Order: sequence, then structure tokens, then C-alpha cells
Amino acid sequence: MCKLLRIDTNEYLQKRGVFLSEKEIVHLHRDGFTIGAHSVSHMNLRNASLPVLKREILDSCRYIQELTGQTEVPFAFPFNSVPTQYVHELKKIRSEHPFVGYYFHGTNNILKSDHFVQRVGLDERNHHYIINLIQNEIELLYRRHARNVIITTFSGAVNSSHD
Ligand SMILES: [Zn+2]
Repeated sequence: MCKLLRIDTNEYLQKRGVFLSEKEIVHLHRDGFTIGAHSVSHMNLRNASLPVLKREILDSCRYIQELTGQTEVPFAFPFNSVPTQYVHELKKIRSEHPFVGYYFHGTNNILKSDHFVQRVGLDERNHHYIINLIQNEIELLYRRHARNVIITTFSGAVNSSHD
């Protein structure tokens, strides 16, 4: 991507550092980007206790939500490492805290469910594989989202007919 945009990554990192400032995050969000969370401490959550797992997800998602005003903040697990023993609790966290968006992980096909999306790296290796994967994920998300919109609209219509 950087090659396409003719950005010299080494030069850029020397001048600007690795992390985005809060101002830059807000700017990106205003430009139409969805900003995700990636935990507070960037620890491997694979074997974290449930309270730690919850705190890492909720605090980082809340921080991004307060910064950007997004209604939902997707969460990507550090090191693509999903605590699969807590899949049920992870779903519960999302239903109790609607500002927690989809979970992104890097493990192929083990967590296909309404709550998880596969995370993909954009580099030149496996080019066709990745494009295929992205198309599938976008299609999946579109179908889920469209279904949510339809259900919301429908229940809205049912409710208003009772008013
Ligand atoms: Zn990371």
C-alpha cells in the first residue's frame, strides 16, 4: 500500500513515530474510517482471566467510542490470540455492551459466528487468497448488517402500528 502511495515508510517513521495521536484518530474517523480497539495493554489475552479479558475489551472500546463517537467499536485481539475458552462470555460482553463491535481474529474459520470476523493482513504475499477472503468477509458482514437493518425496520413498523 505504501509503495502504491509512494510513501517511504522508514523516513515517515523517523519523522512521525509509530502511533497515531488522538487528533489524528479523530481526523481519520471524520474522513470515514472506522476505528477499532486493540486492548489497553496489548497483552496476549489467550490465557487471561475473565475479569482481565473484560477490562481490556471494555476499557479500550470505551476509550475509542468516547474519542470518536462511534456507536460500535470493533475489537482486534493482540497477536490474533483469541481466548476460545471464553467464546460464550465474549458474546455476552457484546450483548451487554452494545458499543463493543465485532471481534476480529486471525484464525481461519474456527470462529465463524455472528460475533467474529477474520482479520487479514494486506501485503503482497497471498494476494489472490487475501482478496478472496476480504470479498467473502465483506459479503458476510453485508448480509449480517442488512439483516439487522431489516429486523430493526420491521420491529419499528410493528411498534409504531401499536401507538
Ligand atoms: Zn498488535
